[in-house]
Amino acid sequence: MTVSTATNHTSDPVSLGRDRYQAMADRVLGGESISRDEALSILKTPDDEVLDLLSAGFRIRQKHFGKTVQLYFLMNAKSGLCPEDCHYCSQSKISTAPVPKYNILKRDDLMEAARLAAERGAKTYCLVISARGPNERELSAVEQIVPEIKEKYNLDICACLGLLSREQADRLKACGVDRVNHNLNTSEDHYADICTTHTYADRVDTLRNVRDAGMEMCSGGIIGMGETHDDVVSMAFDLRDLGVQSIPLNFLNAIEGTPLQGNSDLSPQDCLRALAMFRFVAPDRELRISGGRELHLRSLQPLGLYVANSLFVGDYLTTKGQAPEADYDMIRDLGFEVTKSTC
Ligand code: SF4
Repeated sequence: MTVSTATNHTSDPVSLGRDRYQAMADRVLGGESISRDEALSILKTPDDEVLDLLSAGFRIRQKHFGKTVQLYFLMNAKSGLCPEDCHYCSQSKISTAPVPKYNILKRDDLMEAARLAAERGAKTYCLVISARGPNERELSAVEQIVPEIKEKYNLDICACLGLLSREQADRLKACGVDRVNHNLNTSEDHYADICTTHTYADRVDTLRNVRDAGMEMCSGGIIGMGETHDDVVSMAFDLRDLGVQSIPLNFLNAIEGTPLQGNSDLSPQDCLRALAMFRFVAPDRELRISGGRELHLRSLQPLGLYVANSLFVGDYLTTKGQAPEADYDMIRDLGFEVTKSTC
């Protein structure tokens, strides 16, 4: 199956005028929210004004995060075998991508990954399984390993286990999970085009269960799946209004064998505009440049950190990231510093 991804990322650049970006940042720094129309106009910033936009967004980033960068380490604790049909995902039941398939890893493997996360200076160890939601065996495995990791290493734990009931969220909170990741991925209007086995509302319900259980919410999206600028702006406002503390922004890596294969036409400037828009809409939220960073931002990756304040270090779930040393060099060259501040 091939899905059209005629993304409206490059149409109709609209100049706000260079001073307008700073004026908008002044208002955000003064506690005002930008409007939906302003967010849309950010996504239409002409390429020649992207540096002006980033310069204004940097002032907002600096107010809330200084020059710090928070690093996250991903562990794909269960790979493939997922019954859902998320069209971007190489682990879905409809993907033919040759990804590793294994059930939840044993204790020793999960502890070794935690050791690696600590060694790489990560603030947070993200424990991810491919699933609609965790079964009892998977939930119990997480309940057993999390206290052990936290006792041994100075790491926060983020669990990404799929849809969660309130009872499951309570159990995760009780075992020491700090945060749960569950991405909205796109707008409510666009959701049925990228997944048919669960709904946007299901995902929002999980986030509410996480919040009500007393954990932090990590939720973001994927740019480049055939959505419009309106969809991207809707997702940004929904995430802000849900109160998510951490927003990972991915740029579609259109993996061969998935319905979205071969359809990613993002430019580095598209990625920078999207990151800047999220910074203006959700000024005090952690903003992480996530999957597709190396592929789409390419040599402009450092510019993304002028508005974002977080990165994954190492590999993604089923695709390679750049070497951690390259990330440390980039952060150092920018004059930024890795932080270990807690959730
Ligand atoms: S639920 Fe998660 S692992 Fe399963 S297909 Fe969707 S994104 Fe992939």
